[in-house]
Amino acid sequence: MRPVTCSVVLLVAMLAGPSSGIAQSGAPDAKLIEDLVAANRILFDQGVVDGFGHISVRHDKDPNRYLLARNVAPALVKAEDIMEFDLDSNAIDLRDRRIYLERFIHGEIYKLRPDVKAVIHSHSPSVIPFGAARAKLQPIYHMSAFLGTDVPVFEIRDVAGSATDLLVRDKALGQALAKTLGHHPVALMRGHGSVTVGNSIPQVVFRAVYAEMNAKLQADAMRLGSVTFLTPEEAAKAAETIDGQVMRPWELWKRKAMKAE
Ligand code: MN
Repeated sequence: MRPVTCSVVLLVAMLAGPSSGIAQSGAPDAKLIEDLVAANRILFDQGVVDGFGHISVRHDKDPNRYLLARNVAPALVKAEDIMEFDLDSNAIDLRDRRIYLERFIHGEIYKLRPDVKAVIHSHSPSVIPFGAARAKLQPIYHMSAFLGTDVPVFEIRDVAGSATDLLVRDKALGQALAKTLGHHPVALMRGHGSVTVGNSIPQVVFRAVYAEMNAKLQADAMRLGSVTFLTPEEAAKAAETIDGQVMRPWELWKRKAMKAE
């Protein structure tokens, strides 16, 4: 390394500070941050999150880190609110910022699922009944085919008894939830909400929006009588086709959500 390059590296490391972690791993791609901010706005605009709920993305330069906003309502998230966490969900550079109590959901899923690049936790309202009632959430149309025909339900009582506040507030609970999720794209959380995973920000946003939509449509259909759902074969085929289309609504939702500012 030439001396000039060397001192530039040193200067960058000094500016980043000893605790920021940026010098060791490299700053995340600016586009990734931009997409994460947009996703926060979209999820609010589409009714998946309200004042609560969060979305994270795996760090593009370091698979052992993820990016998540500080403790703020998703619709208010800006680029400067995005923080880095390790997979034990410790903030790399906490300073005086408050962080989400349930960040362990994200860290523990990234640990167990190397294929997962983005995670959403929400209390999206139409999904809640399917975590609490006997009826199983199942794909009622092609748009939600990714759900598959076996959506798991996380029962926190099985792990921590019946005296919790239902929050996934530590690593053990996060790990138990990640195990329940297994290889699935969505897991319901009884009495609380759901978690959705994907291989990109647009894909996970698509899944969270259409999981909510499916739940609403399924409840409507069930009020009409007996319901015909997609078969596992139909679900697999439709999921493959629709997965190639996730950028179309993403562009639309992004334009609408960012305009609302
Ligand atoms: Mn929650």
